[in-house]
Amino acid sequence: MSQFNRRNFLKALAVAAPASVLHVPNARAASKARVVVVGGGFGGATAAKYLKMMSPTLDVTLVEKNKIYTSCPLSNEVISGHGNIKDLEIGYDGLKKRGINVVFDEAGTIDPVKKTVALKGGKTLAYDALVLSPGIDFNYGGVEGYTQELAEGDLPHAYKAGPQTLKLQKQLMAMPDGGVFVITVPPGPFRCPPGPYERASQVAAYLKGHGKTKSKVLILDSNDSFSKKGLFEQAWKLHYPGMIEWIPGASDGKVVKIDPKTRTAYTNFGEHKADVLNVIPPHHAGNIAKNAGLTNEKGWSPVDMLTMESTVHKDIWVVGDSCVHGDLPVYAAPKSAHSAVTQAKVAVGAIIAKLNGQPAPVPYFVNTCYSIAAPDWGFSVVHVYRVDNGKLVYVQDAGGISVIDTPSITTLRRLEAEYAIGWLRNIMADSFA
Ligand SMILES: Cc1cc2nc3c(=O)[nH]c(=O)nc-3n(C[C@H](O)[C@H](O)[C@H](O)COP(=O)(O)OP(=O)(O)OC[C@H]3O[C@@H](n4cnc5c(N)ncnc54)[C@H](O)[C@@H]3O)c2cc1C
Repeated sequence: MSQFNRRNFLKALAVAAPASVLHVPNARAASKARVVVVGGGFGGATAAKYLKMMSPTLDVTLVEKNKIYTSCPLSNEVISGHGNIKDLEIGYDGLKKRGINVVFDEAGTIDPVKKTVALKGGKTLAYDALVLSPGIDFNYGGVEGYTQELAEGDLPHAYKAGPQTLKLQKQLMAMPDGGVFVITVPPGPFRCPPGPYERASQVAAYLKGHGKTKSKVLILDSNDSFSKKGLFEQAWKLHYPGMIEWIPGASDGKVVKIDPKTRTAYTNFGEHKADVLNVIPPHHAGNIAKNAGLTNEKGWSPVDMLTMESTVHKDIWVVGDSCVHGDLPVYAAPKSAHSAVTQAKVAVGAIIAKLNGQPAPVPYFVNTCYSIAAPDWGFSVVHVYRVDNGKLVYVQDAGGISVIDTPSITTLRRLEAEYAIGWLRNIMADSFA
């Protein structure tokens, strides 16, 4: 697996274990306070579950728009036909059985003074503590010519897994040999930093597997580098020589515009006509966080790095993709399911401590991210981090990245492709079961 020895692995495991992350003092003494969680994805489902587990007397309500959650992790494999979307879906019965009130509705206006959340369905929920984990929404105007209607129509971004994932799959499958599949990557931060490059790999895997080897995958990137670059480039050279082209830093930081009719993407340096045009638009925090004034000028929710409590309004905790956790250049937590889950556990510890009038526990955070670049070809990166002098920093020697050069590379990559599937099963169970 990664450059990871047993001692480091146990160290990482220790911080990943709920009790160790939370260190919740007198958790069971917490009063029957009302905690509302908005968003039943990785962050929100985990927060609701661990709140109820750590303090069963709490009145926990989870508000979620959809009855079924579809995991984005492993959704690129659905586009290539190497995965089934049904395996990525999960409902909320597990959380209901734990005594969490699950309300299927859309949360609208937050009143941070009265401490209420109004639901689109007409109800208003009062809270003592509010957790927001609404994921991301898109800035469609960030790419001229692209709109929400196009995303829901002929030009799916498929960056929220679901019907758009299947639509993009269909378009790939209909693409003729010799066709060009263009992926545009927004300026960071965006959810799942290796996601677009894993997608390019999966598209190439489909094309190669179906003998369409005259086709090309073009990545028009608004950035000059990307996550796990060396590992991806090694995989591309080995599995898809000449098929995937990465064009970095396109147009001084962004893809300028598209013409949906001709499926052309324009950058400052040229224009690229696509057979399949997959625009991934820039993101910002979920609309509910933005509309409540909980975001900064870049569109993300600033939080206290030690507790995940909003620095704009107290008694609101923002976790997952919506928050900005840490600062570059030292370290900022990537927007991943694994980050969302550990941030949610840290928020739970901080909420229960606050409700009990105690200081918040000192947290550690973990991120693990697998990518599958070809059938039986997986790799990963793991980091454990803590807060030091107001900055997020790596815990030395805890974590690592898959090795590039090793005689046993085929075996290791095959094992990591299996671990990726095991990782998703475990994290889905940790969050939703
Ligand atoms: C293609 C792709 C591949 C990925 N692969 C990986 C991977 O391998 N590993 C990894 O760790 N991460 C991966 N990710 C990233 C991961 O999906 C996200 O980081 C993670 O889902 C963030 O969790 P979250 O709780 O913040 O948001 P989400 O999981 O998006 O959940 C947000 C939830 O909030 C609900 N919601 C939003 N607003 C409201 C509202 N107003 N009222 C009610 N409900 C609301 C939504 O319906 C949704 O269910 C991938 C992402 C993509 C796009």
